[in-house]
Order: sequence, then C-alpha cells, then structure tokens
Amino acid sequence: MATTLEPAPDLAPAIDRVGRRLAAALPSGRTPKALAERALMGRLMDDPALRAAIFRFVDVRPACRDERDVARHLGELLAQAEGSALGQRGARMATRRTTRAATAGVAALGVRGMAHRFIVGEDAASSVPGVEKLWRSGAAATVDLLGETTVTEAEADSYAARCAETLRTLQAAAARWPSQPLLERDAAGPIPRVNLSVKVSALTPHLHPNDPERGIAGAADRLRGLLRVARDTGAHLHVDMESFDTREAITELTLRLLSEPEFRAGPSAGIVLQGYLVESPDHLERLLDWAQARDAEQPFTIRLVKGAYWDHEMIEAARHGWSSPVIDGRRACDRNYEALSRRLIDATATGKVRAAIASHNLRSIAHAAAYADARGADIEFQVLRGLGDDTLKALVADGRRVRCYCPLGDIVAGMSYLVRRLLENTSNDSFLSAQASGADIDTLLEAP
Ligand SMILES: Cc1cc2nc3c(=O)[nH]c(=O)nc-3n(C[C@H](O)[C@H](O)[C@H](O)COP(=O)(O)OP(=O)(O)OC[C@H]3O[C@@H](n4cnc5c(N)ncnc54)[C@H](O)[C@@H]3O)c2cc1C
Repeated sequence: MATTLEPAPDLAPAIDRVGRRLAAALPSGRTPKALAERALMGRLMDDPALRAAIFRFVDVRPACRDERDVARHLGELLAQAEGSALGQRGARMATRRTTRAATAGVAALGVRGMAHRFIVGEDAASSVPGVEKLWRSGAAATVDLLGETTVTEAEADSYAARCAETLRTLQAAAARWPSQPLLERDAAGPIPRVNLSVKVSALTPHLHPNDPERGIAGAADRLRGLLRVARDTGAHLHVDMESFDTREAITELTLRLLSEPEFRAGPSAGIVLQGYLVESPDHLERLLDWAQARDAEQPFTIRLVKGAYWDHEMIEAARHGWSSPVIDGRRACDRNYEALSRRLIDATATGKVRAAIASHNLRSIAHAAAYADARGADIEFQVLRGLGDDTLKALVADGRRVRCYCPLGDIVAGMSYLVRRLLENTSNDSFLSAQASGADIDTLLEAP
C-alpha cells in the first residue's frame, strides 16, 4: 500500500478533540523555575546576538578551570554580543571585580542546572532513580549514552561496554519496579521495561559516506554484542538515525543483523525513520516490507521523527551543489509526517510492526492519536527529556503509552547535546517556540 498525502477527511473533529484535551492537560508551568526558564527562552528567541553568546558559553563552560576562568569567558563572549543590551550588561557584571564571582557562580550553576534538565544521570547507576521515577509516574524511558565523537577503536569499545553495562544495571533495577500494565504490554505482546537507544557512529570510527561497507563491518560486532546483551536481559535495543549520508549504512547494518538466525526470538528492537527526508515514504515501505517478510518472534519498532539535522542537510547539499535530501518547508514536512504516521499506524495491524510517534508538536501528536483511535491501533508516543516533559504529562493524563528519551552522560559530553536542544527550542520555526510565545490553540492545531 502506497503512502497517501491526502488527510483522512473525517479526522478533523477528532484531532481537534484530542488536541484540546491534551492542551488542557499540559501542566500550567507556573512554578518559579518554569517561569524563569520560559523568560530565558523568550529572551534568547528575541535576541540572536545574546543567543549566540550563550551557546558559545555553554560550549566552553566545561573546559573552564575555575570561577575566575568562567567569569572571564562569560564576560568576553557577552561583550561580543553587540546590539544586545542584556548581553552588554551581563558582560559588565562578569568583569567587574565586585560582581565577578557571583556572576560566575550563577552562570556555572545555570549551565549545570540546564544540563541536568536534559540528562537523567552521569552514568548507568545514577540514571536509575530518574528512570524509576518516570516509570512510577506512568511513563517508560529509553536511555541514550552521550559521548564524544568516536575516532578510535578503543572509544568504540568503551561506548559498547558502557551500553552493555547500562542494559544490565537498568534490568537489575527494573525487576523491582511495580507493574504498569499499559507500559508492559500492547496489542502485539509484551514490551520490555528496559529500552536503550544506540548510535552506530559511536560503535565504529569508520562510518563514512564514501565507504558504507567499511562502516557496517566496523560496527557489526559491537552492535551484535549489544543485541545479545539486550536479548539475554530481555531489554529493547533501538538504533537512532543520524545524518543522511549515514542512513543507508545504519539501515543496512540493522536489518542485516536482525535477520541473523540467532536474533529470531529476540531481542525486541527497532530503528528510526526521519519524516523530513524526501525519500521517507519509500524508505518506510522498505522497512515495512522487510518487517513483514521477517521470520521473528518480536515485532519491529519504527520510531517516526521529523529529523534533527535539517540545517546540516541543507548546508551540505548547498555546499556540494546537490539537491537537498530534506523537504524544504515546515508545512510540507509536517504533512509528510502525518501521511507517514497514518501508513505506519495502519501497518501495526499485522502485529509485525510497532509504531512510536516521537514529536513534541501537539498537532502531529493529536493527528496520530486520533488516527490510531479511529483504527483501533495500539501505539506509543515518545518525547525528549527536558523538551517534552509537559507533553509527556499530558499524554500520561490522557491514558496514552509514552516513553521519554533520556540522555545519560557527564556534563562535558552533554554540552553539545544541550546546545542542539537549546537551538531546537529557540528556533523560530519550531512548534515549541510557537507554543512558548503564546500562540492560541486553534493556531497550534491547524492542519499543516
Ligand atoms: C524520542 C525522540 C527520539 C528522537 N530520535 C531522533 C533520531 O534518532 N534521529 C533524528 O534525526 N532525530 C531524532 N529526534 C529529533 C526529531 O527528529 C526532531 O528534531 C524533534 O523531535 C523536533 O520535531 P517536533 O515534531 O518535536 O517539532 P516541530 O517543531 O513540529 O518540528 C521541528 C522539525 O521540523 C523540521 N524542520 C525544521 N525547519 C524546517 C523547514 N524549514 N522545512 C522543513 N522541515 C523543517 C526539522 O526536522 C525540525 O526538527 C528524536 C525526537 C524524539 C522526541
């Protein structure tokens, strides 16, 4: 069955109903911390020079030796924010002797506090309380290990070893958690309590677009090892998707390994589909055909996202004079996401595929929820920790199955992640910034 871009005509009232119900269930966000964070985000959205300075500061903060160093960097970076009155005031505070130490202290605490909002723990053991708290509140988690770029075999080994340790640590802890029937079973069968997301680029230093087979060969043994640990501990292993030039290698590797006879009985596993890709409808058909033909005991999960590398893909394509692999236009991207959601939700009827709708966009979520309800399909929603916390609470309150993507790692490893998330949150094109700037519910739920 081909993906159709035509929206189901009778879905509009249901989308509106679900969307309004979810919007009403969003926490009011009126705690002093939430208000302060929103005010900061608002400032950053309206003040590009300040935003650039803060991003640079977040990047260099972990390398600062002491508070004096923090103040010096902060002062220099804010001073470069020409045209930003707030930036200039901050620069004076960071450099004046009487206010220097206090400013550095507040800035360091602010960065740490922000990083912790996005990071569930610094290592496997310290992530357990955060993941357990989510579980007890009615939401599942998928844990993602942050790290520096993998450039050596030793780094790839270390990443794989940390992933394996995380699976074992979480599995031991999860055995003691109370039962949560909605999170532990769906129409396709039991769902593992523990779920880990992995990046193939961290499993090999050889994932390069000009030699995909080398990347596949480089990562295969480590990914196979993790699939074995996931199978033996009864956990789910999910393969994240990265930039377009690695998509083919990541897909090929994942499908090849999961086709090996030793993984027929498990583990539960899945991959990501990026809806901003022009070719995504064909790519989804390929994944569905494979899952349908596969002789396996556990369904294959497809996490549908829009894609995190839009600017990068546009810049790369322009640089090489290629046609862009990503859809150019927010509305067209959202329309494609909705069409893919419907196709994916329909495919769950066979029991061979699970659908995970990963978005913070109330319209995209309400559309998928309304369609799944109309089809009697049993699906999961996913959000990012730190960005989707309110959405998660609203989905839980609405009785939906929801999973939170929780990065884990030390503060240094977390910095580029933090900067990317801040960019996403303060980009004028994002749903979250439209929501934060007070757009009304009719606008937020408008058909793309
Ligand atoms: C649980 C979870 C897991 C994720 N895993 C991955 C992953 O493995 N790989 C990955 O790439 N991403 C991943 N993401 C990130 C995801 O791709 C999105 O970047 C993010 O969720 C924002 O999309 P949205 O629907 O929430 O927000 P929206 O504001 O509705 O959409 C923003 C998205 O629209 C797209 N976009 C922005 N500008 C334009 C434009 N001008 N034209 C066309 N499209 C545009 C981009 O994809 C951008 O991220 C994940 C997200 C979640 C919630």
